[in-house]
Amino acid sequence: MSMMRCYLVLFLSLAAVTAYTFSPSERHYGSQVLRITPQNEADLEWLRDFERNYENALDFWQGPTRLLNRGVDVWVPKSMIRQIRELLLENEMQFNVMIPDVQGVIDEQFTKMAGRTRPSTLADFDYSVYHPYDEIRQWVLDMATDHRDIVSEFLVTESYEGREMRAIKISVKPNAAKKSIWFEGGIHAREWISPATVMYIANQLVTDYKSGDQRVVKILESWDVFIVPSLNVDGYAYTWATERMWRKTRSLNPDFGCVGTDANRNWPYKWGGDGASPWACSNTYRGETALSEVEMKAITSYALARTKEQEIRIFIDWHSYAQLWLAPWSYDDAVELPPESPDQLKAAQAGVDAQFAVHAFEYIAGPSARILYEASGASNDWGFGGLGAKYSYVMELRDTGEYGFLLPEDQIIPCGEENYAATLALAEYVLDNDF
Ligand SMILES: [Zn+2]
Repeated sequence: MSMMRCYLVLFLSLAAVTAYTFSPSERHYGSQVLRITPQNEADLEWLRDFERNYENALDFWQGPTRLLNRGVDVWVPKSMIRQIRELLLENEMQFNVMIPDVQGVIDEQFTKMAGRTRPSTLADFDYSVYHPYDEIRQWVLDMATDHRDIVSEFLVTESYEGREMRAIKISVKPNAAKKSIWFEGGIHAREWISPATVMYIANQLVTDYKSGDQRVVKILESWDVFIVPSLNVDGYAYTWATERMWRKTRSLNPDFGCVGTDANRNWPYKWGGDGASPWACSNTYRGETALSEVEMKAITSYALARTKEQEIRIFIDWHSYAQLWLAPWSYDDAVELPPESPDQLKAAQAGVDAQFAVHAFEYIAGPSARILYEASGASNDWGFGGLGAKYSYVMELRDTGEYGFLLPEDQIIPCGEENYAATLALAEYVLDNDF
């Protein structure tokens, strides 16, 4: 080997071992997530008051739902643990410690990721681990390059902080009769399983199509699939660099000095009602106006423009956690359900059955506000009422409250497998029953 070539090899191997330096700088030593389990309607009522009174002091990972057997998961800083425990005991609430040391779990997960190197090609991309934003962006570019026969990529927008939000479209044998599926991940920054799952699904669709899987060939000959792996790109980057538990966007609210809008309260359909806060420092801040966020303005106009060419019939906004398929309506639990609701729920149930068949993880389908809680300006309502996708859902992925947002990496593939099965089942159900 010539000396020059030897230097070159040395240089390349040094470049290849550039490891992560990520680790969030905000620390939460001694904080815990408590799980409170309501025993009856009176407990639920008390918990709703508790949330109202403490929503600005505590982080409700999972607020009170309409489901009696679901816990309320609340993240409590060290300085408030004694006070909150006493309050719960006084009111005879049943609770346990869900995560005894939140910082410990965060540290453990980042330590595990610390020695990793960046994937240099798409073939190196590891679907069983979480990826920082620049790798997700690169994944989009690589998918379109390596699979250019069926995958194209597009720039949705530059984010508030100037990151590129990119997405892919999987399209085989284009023809006018095709309808499309819209998947978006990562609207809530800390829900890392969401981008990981939609990327897993995208890769499986492409891989199985190319290997001639007859189910997937049939589905992709009928459906084009749009996948936006990470919608809230600034928030996601922030969870890697600064605050693992960040949820919102990163735009500044100048009147309050607080940062971020809950992008999933910012959609322009039934915006500004119940289940969305007008207070800029809240984790469910609805924004100054509908579509106040540049990312939201771009994603809605991009999706709407697509419908001029081709109907978007399935729309799923992927979240975690709770294992729920949430159909319209989100904004009001008392309003009459749309006439399409029975079809929406039947199709979702086909997906639920498929999910269960893979790893026996149980998901529940239902109208959002009636099984979870009210949320106005939410994606599933806009997907249906604004975009016109009949089958519009919010999907809450794993788990049901063991790790919550800190779902370990060893669950990414199983979660991907059951939701890939759900995707195929849903696409087939609609194709067979209502295309
Ligand atoms: Zn979410």
